[in-house]
Amino acid sequence: MSLFFKPKSYLVPKDEGELSKILKEYGETARIIAGGTGIYEIAHRGLLSDIEALVDIRDLGLSYVKRESAYLRIGAATTMTTLFHSQELKKEKKFQAIVDALGAIQPLQVKNVATIAGAVCTALPFFDLPVALLSLNAKVKTGPQDKTKALSDFIKGYFAIDLEPGEFVSEIEIPTKDLENSASAFQKFAITHDDWALINCGVSISLDKGNNKVANSTIIFGGGVGEKPVRATSVEKAIEGMKIKEDESKFKEIFEREIQKDLEPISDIRSSAEYRMRLAKVIGRRTLLQAANRA
Ligand SMILES: Cc1cc2nc3c(=O)[nH]c(=O)nc-3n(C[C@H](O)[C@H](O)[C@H](O)COP(=O)(O)OP(=O)(O)OC[C@H]3O[C@@H](n4cnc5c(N)ncnc54)[C@H](O)[C@@H]3O)c2cc1C
Repeated sequence: MSLFFKPKSYLVPKDEGELSKILKEYGETARIIAGGTGIYEIAHRGLLSDIEALVDIRDLGLSYVKRESAYLRIGAATTMTTLFHSQELKKEKKFQAIVDALGAIQPLQVKNVATIAGAVCTALPFFDLPVALLSLNAKVKTGPQDKTKALSDFIKGYFAIDLEPGEFVSEIEIPTKDLENSASAFQKFAITHDDWALINCGVSISLDKGNNKVANSTIIFGGGVGEKPVRATSVEKAIEGMKIKEDESKFKEIFEREIQKDLEPISDIRSSAEYRMRLAKVIGRRTLLQAANRA
């Protein structure tokens, strides 16, 4: 841990009002701590030297997975392991992208403590869970006033999220009205099984029941694709109305042609932009077909 990370207070509020009050009082010098795995990663790079208070949200009752008629609701402090084992998630094919992403995250020790809000609020484009959630058009509920915003707007860029002073994430909400008859999938490509994604992809797709044609899709890419995950709207448009079984070979053509309109991958120590583009075409097509086969 960095010598410069020396918070003076460790606070455990008893309710959301107290949490908000503490966050307002300390402003930029307070950080919520959930599983602490992201905090650890950031702090030991010397990026949290100005933090004076860590605020532990364990006592706020924010660990739950609830299936309501039109929503899946996941409490902010729900750990990845709890979520992975939740029956609410496992039994519906529309949520499989989340199950796939949780399966791809390593190691287990991290998943046992890391939380869904921690994954979202760290706001790094190569994380896996946010990409799966974005493919399901997830929303973020913030306290203390119960505001709801699209996750795609909430994540603004590297380490940047849309929270006002005194606000925090209380829940991740997945509206299921638009996901009826849909299925989803997530895939990741990394240099080793426990490395960050070079490219990852989440797809949600629904087919017209009568003729097996693509009615709707949401295709999200993460990894080295810029400051935040990117939606592949050109690919989505191009596959609309296609017959998934008969036109399978055409998907390759579409990914080859359309994806350059959607993505501008980066080059870094792990990979060149060209290689990432190549991967996006392959991983994108495979994830799409996996989701379609589940539909
Ligand atoms: C060894 C290791 C391996 C990893 N491997 C992977 C991997 O394979 N794939 C992957 O996607 N990720 C991986 N990660 C990253 C991991 O997913 C994140 O560190 C984790 O999701 C963060 O969750 P947390 O609960 O530990 O957050 P914390 O560390 O507690 O917090 C992270 C950030 O979120 C903020 N925060 C947390 N909860 C809230 C809230 N309710 N409201 C507002 N802000 C909040 C905190 O203030 C902090 O800024 C790995 C991490 C480690 C350490």
